[in-house]
Amino acid sequence: MEAEALKLLKKIYGYNSFRKGQNYIIKSILSKRDTLGIMSTGGGKSICYQIPALMFQGIGIVISPLISLMKDQVDSLKILGINGVYINSSLTKEEYKNAIVELRSGRVKLLYLAPERITNEKFINFIKGLKISFIAVDEAHCISQWGHDFRKSYLEIPKFVKALGVKIPILALTATATPKVMKDIETLLEMENPYRYIDGFDRENIFFKVEKVDESIIKNPDIIISKYIRKHKNMSGIIYASTRKEVDALYSYLKDVKNYNVGKYHAGLTQEERKKAQEDFLNDNITIMVATNAFGMGIDKSNVRFVIHKNIPKDLESYYQEAGRAGRDGLPSEAILLFDEKDIVTQEFFIDSNEETTDSQRRIKREKLDDMVRYANLTSCYREFILKYFGDKRIKNYCGNCGNCREVKDVEDLTTETKMVISCIGRAKEKIGISTLVNILLGKADTKIERKGLKELSTFGIMKERDQKWLEEFINFLILENYIELTAGSYPTVQLNKNSFEVLKDVKKIQRKSNEVITFEYYENALFKKLNALRKSIAMKENVAPYIIFSDTTLFEMTEKKPRNRWEMLKIKGVGNQKFKNYGEEFLNIINEFSKEDLEILKIENYIDEKYLEMEKIENLKKDLRINIDTQILKDLLIKNLFS
Ligand code: ADP
Ligand code: ZN
Repeated sequence: MEAEALKLLKKIYGYNSFRKGQNYIIKSILSKRDTLGIMSTGGGKSICYQIPALMFQGIGIVISPLISLMKDQVDSLKILGINGVYINSSLTKEEYKNAIVELRSGRVKLLYLAPERITNEKFINFIKGLKISFIAVDEAHCISQWGHDFRKSYLEIPKFVKALGVKIPILALTATATPKVMKDIETLLEMENPYRYIDGFDRENIFFKVEKVDESIIKNPDIIISKYIRKHKNMSGIIYASTRKEVDALYSYLKDVKNYNVGKYHAGLTQEERKKAQEDFLNDNITIMVATNAFGMGIDKSNVRFVIHKNIPKDLESYYQEAGRAGRDGLPSEAILLFDEKDIVTQEFFIDSNEETTDSQRRIKREKLDDMVRYANLTSCYREFILKYFGDKRIKNYCGNCGNCREVKDVEDLTTETKMVISCIGRAKEKIGISTLVNILLGKADTKIERKGLKELSTFGIMKERDQKWLEEFINFLILENYIELTAGSYPTVQLNKNSFEVLKDVKKIQRKSNEVITFEYYENALFKKLNALRKSIAMKENVAPYIIFSDTTLFEMTEKKPRNRWEMLKIKGVGNQKFKNYGEEFLNIINEFSKEDLEILKIENYIDEKYLEMEKIENLKKDLRINIDTQILKDLLIKNLFS
């Protein structure tokens, strides 16, 4: 059984192993036991029900409140070669009929349902006629009043399960649940002796930070946001604001004044406008979305690099869920809360003005807001606070990757390292490019280094304990800060300048803020850009979002490893058989083309090097010749003078 699951994972998704949680959850559900799975956003919940659905006979049902997510999910499944169907209020009559026909055909493995569907008696009778293998309840926290997204229709789920008349296992999944909410999920769904898997809530790849803002120019939130976007060019991000008015104002500032590629989303727009904005964002036509919290339910986009909150949200559940839309692909991402104390009043107003809220609910909401404000004022680790809030036991009191933890060791003194780099450039007579410089410092001899005798330099291997990436980044930092320079032209060499000598003379100290080293550099890579363009054009043709074709991580790995054939391509994470069949060749072509260009450039470089060496030889010959000629003349003169 397990071996089969693993085989499917490899074959369909192209992944080598299950994540820990997936392993336990899938095993439990395959043994037909009710299961509760708490996994953080990006933890890989979909596979937890997709693989069992493929292994069981019949249809797996997924109940999800996220209508926009369903189409996305079914699209993704289609691309993987799995037959899925969804039924919700967005379907036309025709589409609904088609779905029913598909379901009857016996080909369907997964059926996505909106919870509103399940109370319909006619529909229940239809479902009863099919073979259902299990029911997965996605966003299961919606069943609890203690959660932050309570949905009344979720309370109908157990009735629906009973109405089916056969005992099937229930799989409840969610990313955010406090201990109280977990209890609610199990009781209200009437789960029997459920197996519980609770993954850590930690999102290690997200950097959390709060920045205090106010009306002054230096602390103006709009300016801070605009600067941030400029620094993070080409990266996808979401900026949340608490009201429509705020969204409109920020949107027009970023779009009309600053000319950024932004879209906006809030409940005041027409359904058409909202749909278009969302699609443009998913398809990478716009990189930044300014939105109220109406945006994001079901935003499955995996390469969102940052989420900024311009105003404080109502509670930590909302904050963590919204911030968690960053970095689902596991790559470094940032969640930044801009905190203006006067925004607390807005949130209090929302709580007090809602007439449907009872007194006790109001009290709960105020308590939650208090916790949120506590977070915003925190001076200790942000992550620790969040994890404690969700009852996650694996708490560290120093995470090293949040605003407060970073502050402790904020600046690094890199003067010695800078001197090493400068001295190496000097000793190589300013005739080398960045990659040779890096290799010399690391003590890695390539043919060029060997031939030019650079191995003999005293700086060869002087920084061998550093890794290559770090050094490349560091040298780029020195160039950006103008401690060294690059010449113009196709084969730039590294040069020293006035600043370099000041560093050597100990006039200048080099310090770098550690949180400035974020490795987003793939987005600037030429091959990545080409692969990205191909992904985009395929996505447009197939009418799905680009990340459904391949995730950013998969493209990064292709950029890094440059697979040359089918065999090597299948080793890339995220490339399974089906995806290879559909797109593999096209991506291979681009990589091979690129590698060819790369090879050409290398050949030209070598050619130039050789010519350069030849010229050096000729110069030396000339010099020798001149000396010889000179001596001859001298001799002649002497002879003339002495003997005449
Ligand atoms: P969730 O629904 O829990 O937020 P998803 O199911 O969307 O997460 O998965 C998040 C990302 O992780 C996706 O890009 C998915 O392809 C990837 N992923 C899931 N399982 C694995 C695995 N076993 N190995 C590698 N990547 C995985
Ligand atoms: Zn921390």
